[in-house]
Amino acid sequence: MAKKIDCSVKQLHLLSFLKLCLLMLLVISTSYQLYNMAHTKQLIEKIDDDYRRLYTTIRRFGPFYNNSQSVTMHNGVHNFGDISVVVREDETPVKNLSDGLDMLNNKLEQCAPESVWSIVVLEVPSRYGVFYPLRPGYLESFSTYIPSERVNAMVERERLSNTYREFYGCITRMTEAYIESETQERIRTIYFPIHNDQALNAIIAVDIKESRTQDIINQYNADHHTVLNINGPNNIYSESGELPCANDGPYQAGFHYLDILRTTFGPSILLAALFHLAFHSFRRRDRSIKRDEMTGLFRRDYYEPKFNRMNSFAMLVMDIDHFKQINDEYGHQKGDEVIKTCARILATQIRAEDIAVRWGGEEFVVMFKGIQHSALFDKAEQIRQAIASKEILGLSVTVSIGGYIAKNTTFSEAYKAADAALYQSKHRGRNKVTLA
Ligand code: GH3
Ligand code: MG
Ligand code: MG
Repeated sequence: MAKKIDCSVKQLHLLSFLKLCLLMLLVISTSYQLYNMAHTKQLIEKIDDDYRRLYTTIRRFGPFYNNSQSVTMHNGVHNFGDISVVVREDETPVKNLSDGLDMLNNKLEQCAPESVWSIVVLEVPSRYGVFYPLRPGYLESFSTYIPSERVNAMVERERLSNTYREFYGCITRMTEAYIESETQERIRTIYFPIHNDQALNAIIAVDIKESRTQDIINQYNADHHTVLNINGPNNIYSESGELPCANDGPYQAGFHYLDILRTTFGPSILLAALFHLAFHSFRRRDRSIKRDEMTGLFRRDYYEPKFNRMNSFAMLVMDIDHFKQINDEYGHQKGDEVIKTCARILATQIRAEDIAVRWGGEEFVVMFKGIQHSALFDKAEQIRQAIASKEILGLSVTVSIGGYIAKNTTFSEAYKAADAALYQSKHRGRNKVTLA
């Protein structure tokens, strides 16, 4: 029986813990969703800022180009470290761009670490090109097309011919992501036209790895503890954004519910466990302050100060009859069991709002509110009979009870009166109820 009760108490604990876990998960995952929602727009702004910073850096190359000195070079490939100049005609004036390209590359690396794939400056009309670096396949592509045709096509396609007129618009253009046929790398190209005297002098093409956008998102998520993505399928929340000056359409930034769950599951369980532990240790402490360990009834030292502040109430004092004999004949341990059983029976006979206190060894005080003389007597009789009616651990045990109804009386006076009534019950032969 005790085992069964123990088991169902454990199940109850588990159930309440599971409920707490669910509640925590609901609260935390909802809050985390709101947090991610608040960050979605910021991520879109961050992506926009990041690309614009790249464009600004690339644009700084324009004045450098226009003010660079030219040297005459012959047809062929001329290497200067990572930079290669491919000249298609003899006696071509070629701008010395090495320092500028180095600086540009450094700045771009700072803005977009490990994302710069290549930087190419194509003179218009394409008599020469500067490649940083000259990747496999670039040379063949550059050499096989008819001078200026491909560059013109690119100028046309990207609408670059007179971007200097677009005072506030995009004077750089970024392509959609594509796989570079020569290298099989997935990239986007940012074109910036360099004009001088209304003529298109050159185009600088910076290839950026397509993973740049994902890098920005990853960094943003790491910095802000978010789980945002773009164009994720089945996102439960999304907002529309656009890459600045890019040819592709809008993208959707948002988050997936599974990512929310995955991130909040652990902390929710941990928090639920902490709450559960804190609640139960508080309950245990609270109970040990209020309750007598042996009987589970209230402790005298907890309730007596409260009783001392009361002046209108009804009370009973109950004492086990001939208890010394039980101790003497059956031992102290059995005596303890008898006290416990009497306390349990007493607790079953009173309402939740009545207060039963283990006052001393085998003496109990019960406090009632709003109960009249006859009802108090009936209640005392009910308790007395409940104990006397059945054997307790094979013994017939009885109690004597004294009662008193206090009206503007201090507790100590009331207790004296009830105790005197209890003495009367003992005197009249025990197993009796007397009200003062
Ligand atoms: P009466 O009918 O007059 O009440 O006789 P009694 O033998 O019950 O007398 P009394 O109430 O004065 O004796 C109480 C005894 O209970 C004294 C003490 O040794 C014993 N006692 C007190 N506390 C405990 C306890 O926690 N466990 C046990 N086993 N005995 C206790
Ligand atoms: Mg006694
Ligand atoms: Mg006693």
